[in-house]
Amino acid sequence: RTRRLSGFQPTGRLHLGNLLGALRPLIAAQGAAESIALIADLHAMTVEHHPAAVRAFALEQATVMLAAGVDPQRTPIVLQSQVREHTELHYLLECVATHGEAARMIQFKEKSAAGGQVRLSLLTYPVLMAADILLYDAAQVPVGEDQNQHLELARTLAVRFNTKYGATFTVPEGVRPDSAARIMDLADPSAKMGKSNGSGAGRIGLLDPPEVIRRTIARAATDTVGVVRRDRERQPGVTNLIGILTEITGREPSDRTSYAALKREVNDAVQDLLAPIRARHAELSANPDLVRGVLAAGAEKVRPIAAATVGRARAAIGLLD
Ligand code: ATP
Ligand code: MG
Repeated sequence: RTRRLSGFQPTGRLHLGNLLGALRPLIAAQGAAESIALIADLHAMTVEHHPAAVRAFALEQATVMLAAGVDPQRTPIVLQSQVREHTELHYLLECVATHGEAARMIQFKEKSAAGGQVRLSLLTYPVLMAADILLYDAAQVPVGEDQNQHLELARTLAVRFNTKYGATFTVPEGVRPDSAARIMDLADPSAKMGKSNGSGAGRIGLLDPPEVIRRTIARAATDTVGVVRRDRERQPGVTNLIGILTEITGREPSDRTSYAALKREVNDAVQDLLAPIRARHAELSANPDLVRGVLAAGAEKVRPIAAATVGRARAAIGLLD
């Protein structure tokens, strides 16, 4: 079975975009691929962060993953900081990456453009991400377009290391599972729904109360065209609502539906999808030790793979064992 790595940053609460774009495809592929669900807490510290928040979001994300149907027997849920090899490999890869390569990354340019105190770890973020992937010999990495450039760097570093120092890493491929939807912000459908962007007005949190969800959908931006159809250019809001409905129910709305009726259909579908996740989350959060145990078991399970990779890399690059 192909090994796959899916990463989530504990920068906030998981939302509908994370579920439809990443978690559901991961759960659906649990039989076919050998996935690792990585909660990348080290990445959450590349920008100003609150220590208590990173810890709390990490535990909550693990809980939501379980509630949504990630089976930790088949898909280890791994907290990045609990497998020390991530940081060790990060350093070894820094020794084959150049400053220019890191500084060219669009995400770095965007996030550092705001000025202020830019953390050095923000610059080296893609090198740590390369380490995350190469550490587990992941052959496939499901990525959205926003991560294409980072994945390309991971491939470059793997090939360069292998060429200079001998075959050490599996060169990963990016995959876009065909079921993975890109969900846009309901209030501003020109931006993707995200944990850390926007005001929150257009984001549907997986644990939001039903009434909050209903209101977020009722207030979703539409347009004055008045026809329910997909047109990303002229009707981004309506197109996004159709996308969400289709993704969840597999059903296309009729073009004679009114916007109000479309929103009701979307609300029904989202409520049905999230109610059982919310309920299981409530049960599981009564037992945080269970979730911590899942993380400990996940780290335990993948550590031998990580140790083997770092062992190969250390020897190849010239370190005494
Ligand atoms: P942040 O704003 O901190 O970057 P995020 O919401 O983009 O948070 P990530 O932790 O970066 O979430 O990504 C976790 C996974 O969810 C990735 O596989 C990513 O491609 C996917 N994902 C994130 N946002 C969306 C979205 N709006 N639609 C579909 N998939 C998404
Ligand atoms: Mg993101």
